[in-house]
Amino acid sequence: MTETVAFVGLGNMGGPMSARLVRAGYQVRGFDPAEPARQALAGAGGTAAPDLAGAVRGASVIVLMLPNSDVVEATVHDGGFVAEPGATVVDMSSSEPMRTRALAAELAERGVTLVDAPVSGGVSRARSGELTIMTGGEPADLDRVAPILAHLGTATRAGAVGSGHAVKALNNLLSATHLLVTCEAILAGERFGLDPETMLSIFNRSSGRSGSTENKWPTFILPGSYDSGFGLRLMLKDMRIATGLADQVGTPDPLGHAAAELWARAAEALDATADHTEIVNWLRKDPAR
Ligand code: NAD
Repeated sequence: MTETVAFVGLGNMGGPMSARLVRAGYQVRGFDPAEPARQALAGAGGTAAPDLAGAVRGASVIVLMLPNSDVVEATVHDGGFVAEPGATVVDMSSSEPMRTRALAAELAERGVTLVDAPVSGGVSRARSGELTIMTGGEPADLDRVAPILAHLGTATRAGAVGSGHAVKALNNLLSATHLLVTCEAILAGERFGLDPETMLSIFNRSSGRSGSTENKWPTFILPGSYDSGFGLRLMLKDMRIATGLADQVGTPDPLGHAAAELWARAAEALDATADHTEIVNWLRKDPAR
């Protein structure tokens, strides 16, 4: 019998990810309050459930691809979350590691397993099935969902439950911090008279290179498309998870906090739907003066 996978959260990432599982042959029942997201799943050959219970009922694996821990918890606590004992919940959202641990313990009392499997790679890699997936959970539980994750990307086991969420947030703190300083460097170079493309080609053969210089600047910023599909507010959320984690475990992170404060100012100044690559436009307005 074909395995039934519930997919909750069919947005920028969950849309293409659920469509890949349909193409891989799973019976995918998806739910999202947004009608166009449900229609897209139906168009891809999946089943769009009218409510949460319609997606979750009878599914052996329940994938969550939701904005944050608040929404993940609200979903799991919803009366429609009718997961049966023996089911495995895979939280692929970028959630808060400490809250993930607590939620896993709570679900275990209902006989339901939770593993975390957040991703990196953005919308294009969600479409191509080349996401970097970082997982947290017991090895036997991760073995159970490994065939599903294999259709979405390459998974690396980070440790116990919550570990995937921890490393994901830390990764995005790095990503956001170097994107901001890359924007600062390129704007300074431009004002000096350097050509951005020339700068990038030199950075990319030097020690200043990063995902910001190799991918984000050439793909989304130089052409002015700002369409990475990863919202600026979602990036800020991840940075705050990472700095919160450092605070909780008691390690120093003055640069991380400073970067998060700057991103918070950008989030206030820019449109609510701004892409994270639009951080450069906030800088261009010369926020320091
Ligand atoms: P998104 O806002 O496009 O999608 C989230 C979806 O969740 C929306 O369609 C929304 O309608 C739905 N939703 C909200 N409340 C819901 C509920 N109660 N029940 C069911 N669905 C609900 O966000 P996204 O870009 O797809 O990101 C999803 C997660 O993946 C976030 O945690 C984000 O940080 C992470 N992430 C995003 C990217 C990216 O490039 N977009 C990359 C890596 C990780």
